[in-house]
Amino acid sequence: MARFIFITGGVVSSLGKGLMAASLAALLQERGFKVRIRKFDPYLNVDPGTMSPYQHGEVYVTDDGAETDLDLGHYERFSGVPSRRSDNITSGRIYQNIIAKERRGDYLGATVQVIPHVTDAIKTFARDDTDDLDFVLCEIGGTVGDIESLPFIEAIRQLKNDLGRGKVVFVHLTLVPYIAAAGELKTKPTQHSVRDLTSFGIQPDVLVCRTEHPLPDGERSKIALFCNVPKEAVIPALDAKSIYDVPLHYHAEGLDKAVLSAFGLNIETPLDLNRWKEISNRLANPEGEVTIGVVGKYVGLPDAYKSLHEALVHGGIANRVKVNIVWLDAEMFEGNNPEAAEALSSLHAILVPGGFGERGSEGKIAAVKFAREHKVPFFGICLGMQMACIEGARNTAGLKNASSSEFGPSEEPVIGLITEWERDGEREERAADGDLGGTMRLGAYPAVLKAGSQITEIYNSREITERHRHRYEVNIHYKEALEKGGLVFSGMSPDGLLPEIVERPDHPWFIGVQFHPELKSKPFDPHPLFSSFVAAALKQSRLV
Ligand code: GLN
Repeated sequence: MARFIFITGGVVSSLGKGLMAASLAALLQERGFKVRIRKFDPYLNVDPGTMSPYQHGEVYVTDDGAETDLDLGHYERFSGVPSRRSDNITSGRIYQNIIAKERRGDYLGATVQVIPHVTDAIKTFARDDTDDLDFVLCEIGGTVGDIESLPFIEAIRQLKNDLGRGKVVFVHLTLVPYIAAAGELKTKPTQHSVRDLTSFGIQPDVLVCRTEHPLPDGERSKIALFCNVPKEAVIPALDAKSIYDVPLHYHAEGLDKAVLSAFGLNIETPLDLNRWKEISNRLANPEGEVTIGVVGKYVGLPDAYKSLHEALVHGGIANRVKVNIVWLDAEMFEGNNPEAAEALSSLHAILVPGGFGERGSEGKIAAVKFAREHKVPFFGICLGMQMACIEGARNTAGLKNASSSEFGPSEEPVIGLITEWERDGEREERAADGDLGGTMRLGAYPAVLKAGSQITEIYNSREITERHRHRYEVNIHYKEALEKGGLVFSGMSPDGLLPEIVERPDHPWFIGVQFHPELKSKPFDPHPLFSSFVAAALKQSRLV
């Protein structure tokens, strides 16, 4: 039976609980254990799919088509274990299921309550499909003491009793703030947070203390004493230069040992951290640098493009270069803004990422035009590919009114709504006026690549599978017109109806993809499209 590690947060949010969970999982994996990481989100949305990127950052999509919290991206990047729908649950989904059961009469007249019905649902979710694992790490979103996280805290308290001795360890992440005026680190907020947790019946086994300054031995002892944990289980966590240094830091501070010893397991199992050291070394000692512009809509909040940012870093790791990312607001390229051309001309490559809605689309189209005309490497992802097709239609295929039906009725809907498609031999459908949540083409779909194309060379394969998240598609009826304008449809859905990839053979690197390759890139296994794109940027940097 799997062992469970429950990770809670205290004092404030945004301390890096997800990164800590991902790093701990990576360290346990390097010791030979089989792990899976899960996330409980206490909010009432059924999933983050309909939330604004400004509220929630990126929506991370799994192979099985779930729209999940961006922490699942960290989990997958660090552990290499593909996340699944069953790895992320929200209070909204739990209540939705319970209320549906209640309406069906499944509770046979019982009063439906938070305890036991909601807590039982949480426990079932945590344990589901875990038999073949050594460790399940479950991160609880929010901060201990939040009203909405109480049922989760109660459920994990119960689980410790249900599963018996040695099966559950609680790790609590807190903040040890530095008070500049006093020149001191303060442990009181940590003491209070642990007191909150114990008032709910949970005694943490390991405390991870985020600090901006090294934690003096005396303070470490004080936390251990007041919070009732061994001193070796008080783990200081200073800010790291790169997120990929974090597993190494946590190992150096003894996190994996503290967790194993809390389970009563052997702490001397060998582990090989060479792949993490190699990544850390390449990031710290790049042999060059490139500057890549990302022309998008949510550029004020880098979390909105979390996986994209990481995939570009991975492309840098593959090429041993530092990737400087310049986030550019697409709207600045609308009209005749003299600063716009200047901003673009200093870039070694241009990327237009995924996005929704009309705002900024003309700016994105202008950026595509610049990249095409100036032969600057261009990468269009999802909406970015759609903008590349509209640009091609308007400026190389003579379809002046080309647009997307996402932006309103269009005379030339080069991008349109497809209402039916196939997946694994089954029909899937969406309606123009359907619900917004969970009704897109979501998750992994195969594509067949054209022989002799640049994309086939990049993937070194004719068949690929990538993750999707979009409602609109490049309209196959415009294929011939667009190809006359120089765009080649180099990847298609297996039935030949949905364009998956376009490229321009008359350009050094111009590729648009309907899917999100950034979701599958890993630091130790950079996605080939990002490795190739960064290599193209490097080539370009030597020209300018
Ligand atoms: N808005 C576009 C669509 O729904 C693209 C989506 C995306 O970039 N993820 O098709």
